[in-house]
Amino acid sequence: MPEISVDTSLFSQPLRLLWDNMESCTLCPRRCRVNRLAGQTGFCGIGALPKVSSAGPHFGEEDVLVGSGGSGTIFFAGCNLRCMFCQNYEISQYRWGEQLSIDQLAEQMLILQKRGCENINLVTPTHVVAAAMMAVELAKKNGLSLPVVYNTGGYDSVETLKLLDGLVDIYMPDMKYSDADISSQLSSADDYPEVNLQAVREMHRQVGDLHVINGIAVKGLLVRHLVLPNGLAGSKEIIDFLADEISLDTTINIMGQYRPCYLASSDERINRRPTAEEIAQARRYAIKKGLNVLR
Ligand code: SF4
Repeated sequence: MPEISVDTSLFSQPLRLLWDNMESCTLCPRRCRVNRLAGQTGFCGIGALPKVSSAGPHFGEEDVLVGSGGSGTIFFAGCNLRCMFCQNYEISQYRWGEQLSIDQLAEQMLILQKRGCENINLVTPTHVVAAAMMAVELAKKNGLSLPVVYNTGGYDSVETLKLLDGLVDIYMPDMKYSDADISSQLSSADDYPEVNLQAVREMHRQVGDLHVINGIAVKGLLVRHLVLPNGLAGSKEIIDFLADEISLDTTINIMGQYRPCYLASSDERINRRPTAEEIAQARRYAIKKGLNVLR
């Protein structure tokens, strides 16, 4: 792989730090320390520039992101997690997509704005955060005015997030697990719960509770929690954390659409959908605790 050269002097200092970090990459909690600027790849399998698998208006996201124009989703290939049940495994694990330059990515964002999208929704940006946010900055210089959504699996390092302060409008992290053994077995990340709580704290510190104007989210934190069968997602502990340590006004989407995908059929704990009662139980508990639960 050739060395990637980008004129980083065109970008703000936090983004220059993110880019330079890739010389010995610790952008995410994996801390692979590979030189992505020289073409090496680590756990996420992606070099310095992002691979994009698709970009377009998406109407399947939360209503507060979709509005009338759709959410302007940009799906990045690769991932810093290995969820056995990933529904997008062709993108996350097989890394199907096309490498884009920062200019091309910024251009895509401006196209989504022109098409009437309500926001720019960066899907799985953690491992390509440097280039993705440089593209945001460049697009803003060229007229991008939509809210920027950081739609992440929630395995993000606080050091990296701190450098995004003021650049991200809406953080939309997953909170997948509260038990380290489960996150290790199902997503190959034994520190996921601890890392995830710290990341959500930092995200909320930056943007606060979700703020919606005329039915459209403009700023804040929107947590996603996928209910897994057999209580594996630790819903109660996650809801307790949000209510007790983040804010009673936290907006949460408790998602019931889990179905066994990718490698899930090989593990009997996750080879079925959650029951209606398992999903209802998590929702009831979040409502009882006073969180703002999306329908
Ligand atoms: S972003 Fe990729 S290369 Fe960098 S630490 Fe994370 S997994 Fe490793």
